[in-house]
Amino acid sequence: MEQLEPGIARLLAHNPSAFTYTGTQSYIVGTDDVAVIDPGPDLPEHVDALMAAIAGRSVAAIICTHTHRDHSPAARPLAERTGAAIIGCAPLALAAVGPRADASFDGDYGPDRVLGDGEVLKIGSEHLIAVATPGHTSNHLCFNWRDALFTGDHVMGWSTTVVVPPDGDMAAYMASLDKLRQRDDRIYYPAHGAPVTNPQQYVRHLMGHRMHRERQILKLIAGQPRDIPGIVGNAYPGLDPRLTAAAGGSVLAHLLDLERRGLVERQGDSWTKA
Ligand SMILES: [Zn+2]
Repeated sequence: MEQLEPGIARLLAHNPSAFTYTGTQSYIVGTDDVAVIDPGPDLPEHVDALMAAIAGRSVAAIICTHTHRDHSPAARPLAERTGAAIIGCAPLALAAVGPRADASFDGDYGPDRVLGDGEVLKIGSEHLIAVATPGHTSNHLCFNWRDALFTGDHVMGWSTTVVVPPDGDMAAYMASLDKLRQRDDRIYYPAHGAPVTNPQQYVRHLMGHRMHRERQILKLIAGQPRDIPGIVGNAYPGLDPRLTAAAGGSVLAHLLDLERRGLVERQGDSWTKA
Protein backbone atom coordinates (compact mmCIF):
# COMPACT_ATOMS: atom_id res chain seq x y z
CA MET A 1 0.00 0.00 0.00
CA GLU A 2 1.18 3.50 -0.85
CA GLN A 3 -0.12 6.52 1.04
CA LEU A 4 -0.29 9.16 -1.72
CA GLU A 5 -1.48 12.05 0.42
CA PRO A 6 -3.49 12.38 3.64
CA GLY A 7 -6.69 10.38 3.16
CA ILE A 8 -5.71 8.73 -0.13
CA ALA A 9 -3.93 5.36 -0.34
CA ARG A 10 -3.35 3.17 -3.39
CA LEU A 11 -3.05 -0.59 -3.80
CA LEU A 12 -1.92 -2.27 -7.01
CA ALA A 13 -3.59 -5.56 -8.02
CA HIS A 14 -1.43 -8.23 -9.66
CA ASN A 15 -3.18 -8.25 -13.03
CA PRO A 16 -0.68 -6.62 -15.40
CA SER A 17 -1.48 -6.86 -19.13
CA ALA A 18 -1.38 -4.95 -22.41
CA PHE A 19 -4.66 -3.33 -21.33
CA THR A 20 -4.10 -2.79 -17.60
CA TYR A 21 -0.42 -1.63 -17.68
CA THR A 22 1.05 -2.65 -14.30
CA GLY A 23 -2.42 -3.67 -13.07
CA THR A 24 -5.55 -2.13 -11.57
CA GLN A 25 -5.01 0.45 -8.84
CA SER A 26 -7.56 0.39 -6.04
CA TYR A 27 -7.86 3.50 -3.87
CA ILE A 28 -8.76 3.76 -0.21
CA VAL A 29 -10.19 7.19 0.50
CA GLY A 30 -10.88 8.71 3.93
CA THR A 31 -9.38 8.58 7.38
CA ASP A 32 -11.60 7.06 10.09
CA ASP A 33 -14.37 6.04 7.69
CA VAL A 34 -13.14 4.98 4.28
CA ALA A 35 -14.41 4.16 0.81
CA VAL A 36 -12.73 1.72 -1.56
CA ILE A 37 -12.71 2.92 -5.18
CA ASP A 38 -12.34 0.24 -7.87
CA PRO A 39 -11.80 -2.85 -5.69
CA GLY A 40 -10.34 -4.56 -8.77
CA PRO A 41 -10.23 -8.13 -10.05
CA ASP A 42 -11.41 -10.95 -7.80
CA LEU A 43 -7.93 -12.12 -6.78
CA PRO A 44 -7.87 -13.46 -3.20
CA GLU A 45 -4.48 -11.90 -2.43
CA HIS A 46 -5.73 -8.49 -3.61
CA VAL A 47 -8.85 -8.71 -1.43
CA ASP A 48 -6.60 -9.73 1.51
CA ALA A 49 -4.37 -6.71 0.80
CA LEU A 50 -7.42 -4.41 0.72
CA MET A 51 -8.60 -5.84 4.07
CA ALA A 52 -5.15 -5.23 5.57
CA ALA A 53 -5.12 -1.64 4.25
CA ILE A 54 -8.63 -0.98 5.61
CA ALA A 55 -7.23 -2.15 8.95
CA GLY A 56 -10.54 -2.53 10.75
CA ARG A 57 -11.85 0.92 9.84
CA SER A 58 -15.51 1.38 8.94
CA VAL A 59 -16.06 1.04 5.17
CA ALA A 60 -18.71 3.53 4.08
CA ALA A 61 -18.92 2.18 0.53
CA ILE A 62 -17.31 -0.03 -2.07
CA ILE A 63 -17.33 2.01 -5.22
CA CYS A 64 -16.91 1.01 -8.86
CA THR A 65 -16.18 3.42 -11.72
CA HIS A 66 -17.41 0.87 -14.28
CA THR A 67 -17.91 -2.85 -14.68
CA HIS A 68 -14.93 -4.12 -16.63
CA ARG A 69 -13.55 -7.30 -15.11
CA ASP A 70 -10.39 -5.63 -13.90
CA HIS A 71 -12.41 -3.13 -11.80
CA SER A 72 -15.56 -4.46 -10.14
CA PRO A 73 -15.43 -8.24 -9.37
CA ALA A 74 -13.63 -7.83 -6.01
CA ALA A 75 -16.60 -5.74 -4.83
CA ARG A 76 -18.52 -8.89 -3.90
CA PRO A 77 -15.95 -10.65 -1.68
CA LEU A 78 -15.01 -7.31 -0.14
CA ALA A 79 -18.68 -6.58 0.64
CA GLU A 80 -18.99 -10.01 2.26
CA ARG A 81 -15.96 -9.40 4.44
CA THR A 82 -16.68 -5.77 5.42
CA GLY A 83 -20.48 -5.65 5.33
CA ALA A 84 -20.22 -2.48 3.24
CA ALA A 85 -22.64 -1.60 0.44
CA ILE A 86 -21.60 -1.61 -3.22
CA ILE A 87 -22.34 1.85 -4.58
CA GLY A 88 -21.54 3.53 -7.86
CA CYS A 89 -21.99 2.79 -11.53
CA ALA A 90 -25.02 1.05 -12.99
CA PRO A 91 -24.80 -2.60 -14.06
CA LEU A 92 -24.68 -3.33 -17.80
CA ALA A 93 -27.01 -5.82 -19.45
CA LEU A 94 -24.70 -8.34 -21.13
CA ALA A 95 -27.18 -9.26 -23.81
CA ALA A 96 -27.27 -5.68 -25.00
CA VAL A 97 -23.55 -5.17 -25.49
CA GLY A 98 -22.35 -7.95 -27.76
CA PRO A 99 -19.61 -10.57 -27.76
CA ARG A 100 -16.95 -8.32 -26.28
CA ALA A 101 -19.06 -8.09 -23.15
CA ASP A 102 -18.42 -11.74 -22.38
CA ALA A 103 -14.70 -11.22 -22.13
CA SER A 104 -14.37 -7.83 -20.52
CA PHE A 105 -17.60 -7.13 -18.63
CA ASP A 106 -18.41 -8.23 -15.11
CA GLY A 107 -21.93 -9.61 -15.60
CA ASP A 108 -22.26 -10.51 -11.91
CA TYR A 109 -21.94 -6.90 -10.71
CA GLY A 110 -24.93 -6.06 -8.52
CA PRO A 111 -24.80 -2.64 -6.85
CA ASP A 112 -26.82 -1.83 -3.75
CA ARG A 113 -27.15 1.74 -4.96
CA VAL A 114 -26.49 3.39 -8.33
CA LEU A 115 -25.26 6.98 -8.34
CA GLY A 116 -26.28 9.51 -10.97
CA ASP A 117 -24.28 12.53 -12.11
CA GLY A 118 -23.66 14.91 -9.21
CA GLU A 119 -24.95 12.56 -6.52
CA VAL A 120 -23.14 12.82 -3.21
CA LEU A 121 -22.01 10.05 -0.90
CA LYS A 122 -20.89 10.80 2.66
CA ILE A 123 -17.59 9.27 3.72
CA GLY A 124 -17.34 10.16 7.41
CA SER A 125 -17.71 13.95 7.47
CA GLU A 126 -16.55 14.37 3.86
CA HIS A 127 -18.20 14.01 0.48
CA LEU A 128 -17.56 11.90 -2.57
CA ILE A 129 -19.36 13.19 -5.66
CA ALA A 130 -20.17 11.14 -8.76
CA VAL A 131 -19.26 12.66 -12.13
CA ALA A 132 -20.90 10.81 -15.02
CA THR A 133 -18.32 10.22 -17.75
CA PRO A 134 -19.70 7.79 -20.37
CA GLY A 135 -17.52 6.87 -23.36
CA HIS A 136 -15.03 4.17 -22.36
CA THR A 137 -18.19 2.40 -21.18
CA SER A 138 -21.74 3.73 -21.05
CA ASN A 139 -21.87 3.35 -17.25
CA HIS A 140 -18.56 5.02 -16.38
CA LEU A 141 -18.37 7.36 -13.38
CA CYS A 142 -15.48 9.44 -12.03
CA PHE A 143 -15.49 10.46 -8.36
CA ASN A 144 -14.51 13.79 -6.84
CA TRP A 145 -13.12 13.93 -3.28
CA ARG A 146 -11.74 17.20 -1.91
CA ASP A 147 -9.91 18.62 -4.95
CA ALA A 148 -8.94 15.25 -6.45
CA LEU A 149 -10.76 13.26 -9.11
CA PHE A 150 -10.65 9.47 -9.35
CA THR A 151 -10.86 8.93 -13.08
CA GLY A 152 -11.11 5.13 -13.43
CA ASP A 153 -10.46 4.31 -17.09
CA HIS A 154 -11.89 7.57 -18.47
CA VAL A 155 -8.49 9.24 -18.13
CA MET A 156 -5.52 6.96 -17.53
CA GLY A 157 -1.98 7.88 -16.60
CA TRP A 158 -0.13 5.63 -19.04
CA SER A 159 -2.09 5.37 -22.31
CA THR A 160 -5.15 6.66 -24.12
CA THR A 161 -8.42 4.96 -23.22
CA VAL A 162 -9.89 2.12 -25.25
CA VAL A 163 -13.23 3.19 -26.73
CA VAL A 164 -14.83 0.19 -28.43
CA PRO A 165 -18.42 -0.02 -29.74
CA PRO A 166 -21.08 -1.08 -29.11
CA ASP A 167 -20.81 0.01 -25.49
CA GLY A 168 -17.90 2.42 -26.04
CA ASP A 169 -18.94 5.66 -27.73
CA MET A 170 -16.51 8.22 -29.13
CA ALA A 171 -18.91 11.19 -29.08
CA ALA A 172 -19.81 10.44 -25.45
CA TYR A 173 -16.11 10.03 -24.58
CA MET A 174 -15.22 13.42 -26.13
CA ALA A 175 -18.14 15.08 -24.33
CA SER A 176 -16.94 13.51 -21.06
CA LEU A 177 -13.41 14.82 -21.66
CA ASP A 178 -14.85 18.27 -22.30
CA LYS A 179 -16.77 17.96 -19.03
CA LEU A 180 -13.48 17.36 -17.17
CA ARG A 181 -11.82 20.22 -19.06
CA GLN A 182 -14.38 22.58 -17.54
CA ARG A 183 -13.60 21.43 -13.97
CA ASP A 184 -10.70 22.62 -11.85
CA ASP A 185 -9.49 19.41 -10.20
CA ARG A 186 -5.98 19.60 -8.77
CA ILE A 187 -5.02 16.01 -9.56
CA TYR A 188 -6.38 12.86 -11.19
CA TYR A 189 -5.94 9.41 -9.70
CA PRO A 190 -6.51 6.91 -12.54
CA ALA A 191 -7.10 3.16 -12.20
CA HIS A 192 -4.05 2.51 -14.39
CA GLY A 193 -0.81 4.50 -14.46
CA ALA A 194 0.61 7.43 -12.53
CA PRO A 195 -1.39 10.31 -11.05
CA VAL A 196 -2.04 13.16 -13.49
CA THR A 197 -0.75 16.37 -11.92
CA ASN A 198 -1.66 18.69 -14.82
CA PRO A 199 -5.31 17.71 -15.44
CA GLN A 200 -6.34 20.64 -17.65
CA GLN A 201 -3.36 20.35 -19.96
CA TYR A 202 -3.61 16.56 -20.06
CA VAL A 203 -7.31 16.54 -20.98
CA ARG A 204 -6.69 19.08 -23.74
CA HIS A 205 -3.91 16.83 -25.01
CA LEU A 206 -6.24 13.78 -25.01
CA MET A 207 -8.94 15.69 -26.90
CA GLY A 208 -6.36 16.90 -29.41
CA HIS A 209 -5.12 13.34 -29.88
CA ARG A 210 -8.62 12.08 -30.79
CA MET A 211 -9.26 15.03 -33.11
CA HIS A 212 -5.96 14.31 -34.84
CA ARG A 213 -6.95 10.62 -35.19
CA GLU A 214 -10.30 11.66 -36.66
CA ARG A 215 -8.65 13.90 -39.27
CA GLN A 216 -6.20 11.10 -40.07
CA ILE A 217 -9.04 8.61 -40.66
CA LEU A 218 -10.93 11.08 -42.86
CA LYS A 219 -7.76 11.66 -44.90
CA LEU A 220 -7.11 7.92 -45.30
CA ILE A 221 -10.59 7.24 -46.69
CA ALA A 222 -10.86 10.42 -48.76
CA GLY A 223 -9.15 9.04 -51.85
CA GLN A 224 -10.22 5.41 -51.59
CA PRO A 225 -12.63 3.29 -49.55
CA ARG A 226 -10.85 1.30 -46.84
CA ASP A 227 -11.89 -1.32 -44.35
CA ILE A 228 -10.95 -1.10 -40.67
CA PRO A 229 -7.81 -3.30 -40.85
CA GLY A 230 -6.69 -1.12 -43.78
CA ILE A 231 -7.16 2.03 -41.70
CA VAL A 232 -5.45 0.54 -38.61
CA GLY A 233 -2.46 -0.58 -40.72
CA ASN A 234 -1.93 2.98 -41.93
CA ALA A 235 -2.89 4.95 -38.84
CA TYR A 236 -1.08 2.91 -36.18
CA PRO A 237 2.48 2.21 -37.36
CA GLY A 238 4.43 -0.04 -34.99
CA LEU A 239 1.30 -1.07 -33.07
CA ASP A 240 1.71 -3.80 -30.43
CA PRO A 241 -0.05 -6.78 -32.13
CA ARG A 242 -1.94 -7.48 -28.90
CA LEU A 243 -3.66 -4.11 -29.34
CA THR A 244 -4.78 -4.58 -32.97
CA ALA A 245 -8.36 -5.44 -31.99
CA ALA A 246 -8.58 -2.50 -29.58
CA ALA A 247 -7.21 -0.13 -32.25
CA GLY A 248 -9.79 -1.50 -34.72
CA GLY A 249 -12.48 -0.87 -32.12
CA SER A 250 -11.34 2.73 -31.63
CA VAL A 251 -11.33 3.29 -35.41
CA LEU A 252 -14.87 1.88 -35.58
CA ALA A 253 -15.89 4.22 -32.73
CA HIS A 254 -14.56 7.17 -34.75
CA LEU A 255 -16.29 5.96 -37.94
CA LEU A 256 -19.67 5.51 -36.21
CA ASP A 257 -19.36 9.01 -34.75
CA LEU A 258 -18.42 10.43 -38.18
CA GLU A 259 -21.32 8.53 -39.78
CA ARG A 260 -23.78 10.06 -37.29
CA ARG A 261 -22.40 13.47 -38.24
CA GLY A 262 -22.89 12.70 -41.95
CA LEU A 263 -19.16 12.85 -42.76
CA VAL A 264 -18.54 9.22 -43.83
CA GLU A 265 -20.45 6.46 -45.59
CA ARG A 266 -20.27 2.71 -45.25
CA GLN A 267 -20.12 0.39 -48.27
CA GLY A 268 -20.10 -3.18 -46.98
CA ASP A 269 -16.95 -3.48 -44.86
CA SER A 270 -15.41 -0.37 -46.37
CA TRP A 271 -15.78 3.24 -45.40
CA THR A 272 -15.40 6.35 -47.51
CA LYS A 273 -15.74 10.09 -47.07
CA ALA A 274 -19.31 11.28 -47.65
ZN1 LIG B 1 -12.26 -0.38 -18.35
